[in-house]
Amino acid sequence: MEIIKNLIIGSGPAGYTAAIYAARADLKPIVYTGLEPGGQLTTTTDVDNFPGYPDGVNGPEMMQELQKQAERFGTDVRIGHINKVELSNKVGGIHKAWVDDGTELKAQTIIISTGATAKYLGIESEQRLIGGGVSACAVCDGFFYKGQDVAIVGGGDTAAEEATYLANICNKVTMLVRKGEMRASKAMQHRVNKANNIYLRYFTEIDEVIGDQVVEGIRIINNKTGKKEEISINGLFIAIGHKPNTDIFKEQLEMDNFGYIITKSKTTKTNMPGVFASGDVQDKDYRQAVTAAGTGCMAALDAERYINGLKV
Ligand code: NDP
Repeated sequence: MEIIKNLIIGSGPAGYTAAIYAARADLKPIVYTGLEPGGQLTTTTDVDNFPGYPDGVNGPEMMQELQKQAERFGTDVRIGHINKVELSNKVGGIHKAWVDDGTELKAQTIIISTGATAKYLGIESEQRLIGGGVSACAVCDGFFYKGQDVAIVGGGDTAAEEATYLANICNKVTMLVRKGEMRASKAMQHRVNKANNIYLRYFTEIDEVIGDQVVEGIRIINNKTGKKEEISINGLFIAIGHKPNTDIFKEQLEMDNFGYIITKSKTTKTNMPGVFASGDVQDKDYRQAVTAAGTGCMAALDAERYINGLKV
């Protein structure tokens, strides 16, 4: 079996940037895209804060461009999900990974860029109605609620961005924020406040999602007064943050209490030699496309130095 010099798991800004650098360093990278090729940015609309795009860029378009750029230097991009790894703890050891179709891979270095996945509230009625009106992606599913009333949970940048997106399509957007203020940036809050069909409800949480097969409404609760109220809606969007995609690395890589991979100070090195982590999977603080791309670059340079170090 061929030994891959550099296996990159994940195809967001971190994975593709790592691939651009690794390919140019002749590490012949192979990228496995995961279940969401292009990563989280494929579910966003305008990216206005990535340097080099003075007029902003559409998220999915930006990811296609990053893929093309990685392929231009010879990156082998494969559709597939890595569902198991066996990492070697020896310097120069060979790491093993398995693709969901059963293919076994052997690699000298691995760059983990598996990102993070949207969180749900976890209440029974919400879980039951996922796909029946409950969604964690306004850009993917907002269209189905054109001209209708919807609600969105969360007070961060994602919730604010998705609320303004929904406000352009839907009749009325009720935004449920559990604290007395939003966590979103001032610029995003300004956009929310400017929309005349977004109705903010502070100190408000969901008690239950109402509906058998599809969402018909929500029962909300004011967490200060305990007062409950029913609102009739057709779509419920959850935008309360993300969980790092690190389950397959548990017991093998050092992680923090939230499951983010721990990297050694100012590098992308994990506790396993030849295994590097970049992007949201190791960053719960910044979580930006540009910072993910930056750490992708670092991971490729760290992998190149590691391989060169084995030769001496
Ligand atoms: P955040 O963690 O920033 O915000 C999560 C929000 O959900 C908070 O308001 C939080 O409330 C709320 N929340 C969490 N759990 C629950 C719950 N169980 N019930 C109700 N509310 C809950 O996540 P985001 O996804 O919004 O953002 C992640 C990162 O990505 C941030 O750094 C953000 O700046 C960035 N981002 C940037 C964008 C851009 O620049 N275009 C777009 C989207 C995201 P509380 O405040 O009370 O904890």
